[in-house]
Parts: sequence; C-alpha cells; structure tokens
Amino acid sequence: MKVLVCDPIDEEGIKMLKEKGFEVDYKPSITAQELKNTVASYDALLVRSRTKVTKEIIEAGKNLKAIGRAGVGLDNIDLDAAKAKGIKVVNAPESLTQSVIELVIGFMVALSRYMCKADKTMKEGKWLKTEFIGHELYGKTLGVVGFGRIGRGVAKVARSIGMKILVYDVVQVDEKTLSEYDAKQVSLEEVLKNSDFVTLHVPGGPQTYHLIDISKLKLMKPSAFLINTSRGNVIKEDDLVYALKSKMIAGAALDVFEVEPPGNKELLSLDNVILTPHIGGETFEAQRLAATLTVSRLIEALKQ
Ligand code: NAD
Repeated sequence: MKVLVCDPIDEEGIKMLKEKGFEVDYKPSITAQELKNTVASYDALLVRSRTKVTKEIIEAGKNLKAIGRAGVGLDNIDLDAAKAKGIKVVNAPESLTQSVIELVIGFMVALSRYMCKADKTMKEGKWLKTEFIGHELYGKTLGVVGFGRIGRGVAKVARSIGMKILVYDVVQVDEKTLSEYDAKQVSLEEVLKNSDFVTLHVPGGPQTYHLIDISKLKLMKPSAFLINTSRGNVIKEDDLVYALKSKMIAGAALDVFEVEPPGNKELLSLDNVILTPHIGGETFEAQRLAATLTVSRLIEALKQ
C-alpha cells in the first residue's frame, strides 16, 4: 500500500510505516495542485494542519482508504466528503496534552512575575528590580473552563503548587474526580468572579464561540489574568483588548487567535498581554507522539 505524507511529520512515524511494509512518499511541501494530480495513486494520506484535504482532493483520490491527521483539529479535512466515500479519518488528540499543560503553567508564572516585561527592559539596558513585584501562585485560585484532558492536567500541576481549583464544564464532573483534584465545580460566572487566573480549555466551534466577551470579562477581578490556549474565537478579541487597555483585568496570555496570524494591531501593541504563535503543541515530544499514535491508528484503519 502507498502512503503520501503531505506535511512535515516526525521521522519516527515514517519509519513505522516503512517497517510495516508501506511504500512511503514524503512530500512535506506538496502544493494543492500537485496533490490533486497525484492523490489517485495513494491508499492513504498523512497530514498535519498545512494540507487542506478538500472535497476535490478526496474525490480525486480514487484509491484512498484512510487519512491520518498527526495532531488534534480535523478542520483541514472535509469529513463529510471522506465519510461519503467510506474513507476513515484518524488523529491523535491526546498527543499534545502535556505540551499545552506545560505552556499554561509557564504563562501563569510569566504573567504573575512580569517575566516578558522584565526581559525586554533588561535588554534595553534598564534594571527595574522594584517595578516587578509580582505574586506567588501558591494559595491563589485557578479557574479551569473546560475540564477535559488539558484542563485536568493543568489543574493537577496547579494543585501541586498549592493553588485552589474551580472548574466550569458543561458536563457534570463526578465527585470522586473532583476530589482527586481537590476541585469545586461551579458556574462560569462564579469561576470568573472568584479566580485569580482563568484558563480556557473548551473545544472550538459554535457552542463556545465568543464564550468570553465583555459581559464575562466584567465579572473578573481587576487583578486577574486570563489564559487562552484553546481556540481563538472562544474569546471576543476586541472585547479582550478593551478589557486589557482599560485595566478591567490585569493581563492575559494567548496562544490562539481569532485570525492566525493575528491582524489585530492593538492587541499586538499592549504590554499586559503575552502572545505566542500557536505553539501549544510545538514540542519535539508532542510531535513525535502525534506522528507515532496517528501512524499506528492509520495502519489499523487500513487493515480493516
Ligand atoms: P477535551 O475534549 O479533552 O476537553 C474539552 C472539555 O471541554 C470537555 O470536558 C468538555 O465537556 C468541555 N466543554 C465542551 N463544551 C463546553 C462548553 N461550552 N463550556 C464548558 N465546557 C465545555 O479537549 P482537550 O484535549 O483538553 O483540548 C482543549 C482545547 O485545547 C481544544 O480547544 C483544543 O483544540 C485545544 N488545543 C490547543 C492546542 C494548542 O496548540 N494551543 C493543542 C492541543 C489542543
């Protein structure tokens, strides 16, 4: 069977495919047109987020049996078109969890200790020791919005640092699980009112679109920080910019944006926000796990 790898994938995944006897073509910068012209000769595609597996590509893939997405989101694959042709789609949503958890913890420390501002001003030749009096995480309240894989992982580390945990989730979390995290499940409003840090871990999509807008930001403490590593449009970005400019909240850290790369110039100019270019899952370990888990699921799908 022939597999076309359309995006840069960790070499371990490619090695696994070859060891199982698959013929692998590695074309990590293939264009949409080249893909359309050649897809008919492959049994499977392996992609990350760059390659768009559109209806047109799927229809041109006369021999396609499975598509692997090394990572989480499936928004670059036309799932309806794949389903209509009986093509299986596999991914590895759990592969990036640990990397995102660690980024969130990093954000919390960086926000509460003004690490980015301290670094910037030192490199400008300044020594502003007394201007960067921060806060400890110990004893503070962390509000986790979306208590799934990443939310729980963040709560576990935060708990070990001595933070109190409040949880908001549409699903009722059972008492045993909550007690494992020493967490209390409350309404979104209560999370926002009572937390020193609020971290968002809900899925994207219509249910969570602009979940955090000005009406929610107004509920937060002026000393509180907001962290988003979930999906950009969970926050109404213009409202967040207003809240940050008017010091309605103390600061924010964002890894995801309504438009990526973000076009919002005002957001880019604020000094109480830390921005990273969607690097939540960008660690060698996460990319290796994404590749190997997806490949093993792709091999299973091709066997059926
Ligand atoms: P998950 O599916 O394990 O958890 C999501 C949780 O949100 C679930 O407990 C679910 O019940 C809850 N939920 C769903 N809708 C909700 C709503 N309207 N209000 C409150 N809670 C709701 O997902 P995960 O693996 O923990 O991922 C969380 C988010 O992180 C996703 O948006 C994912 O796309 C994103 N993510 C980002 C990166 C990155 O690079 N920044 C990497 C991986 C995942």
